[in-house]
Amino acid sequence: MHMVQMGKEYDVLKENSRIAHSNYRRLKEHGVRCIEVMGSIGSGKTAFIIKVGEILRAKGLRVCAIAGDVTGEDDYRRMTDSGLDSVNCNTGRECHLDAEMVRRVLDGMDLEKYDVIFIENVGNLVCPADFPLGADYRVVIISTTEGDDMVRKHHDIFIHSDVAILNKTDIAEAVDVDPEIIERDYAKLTGGLKKMHRCSVKRSWGMEEILRALDL
Ligand code: MG
Ligand code: ZN
Repeated sequence: MHMVQMGKEYDVLKENSRIAHSNYRRLKEHGVRCIEVMGSIGSGKTAFIIKVGEILRAKGLRVCAIAGDVTGEDDYRRMTDSGLDSVNCNTGRECHLDAEMVRRVLDGMDLEKYDVIFIENVGNLVCPADFPLGADYRVVIISTTEGDDMVRKHHDIFIHSDVAILNKTDIAEAVDVDPEIIERDYAKLTGGLKKMHRCSVKRSWGMEEILRALDL
């Protein structure tokens, strides 16, 4: 979370939440399902969106992705190259997207053209937690390469997300990480009510279970 004056911080978050609600209503009016994807740099957010985008398109759904990054078009290009409609959204300096940035992107889109829209947040496990964007589901994706302590270090993002995914389980042993430790931490944090979903986006492991968790 950024350091802001106490009163001001409250106003910023309140205003963000107001705009997020209006984004949500607007997406609903057009019958669009929206999924936000949060996670560190390199956790596999873009690859996950591309993979799920392919599966959904094969089912006949119309899919688009908003690629949030501080600068550059790398993710936007990867998505577009995979055949996924996408829109680039550079934050300039901010280390997270906010609801107003998403509102402006939605302004430039024809929402009637899509059934599902993904929003890839900036690679960051801290402040995206505080800025809901108006999605139906907030997904957090971590990978085994980040170590086994991510849940213990980043409570907020796991508490503020609906679905948690552990990616790159195919190389867990090579990076000396035990997925069970991460799953245990997550179960403890969520009072045993939620379970972390294991997958390897690269090998297409665990995708069906995740799609079910996202009602897709
Ligand atoms: Mg990415
Ligand atoms: Zn930030």
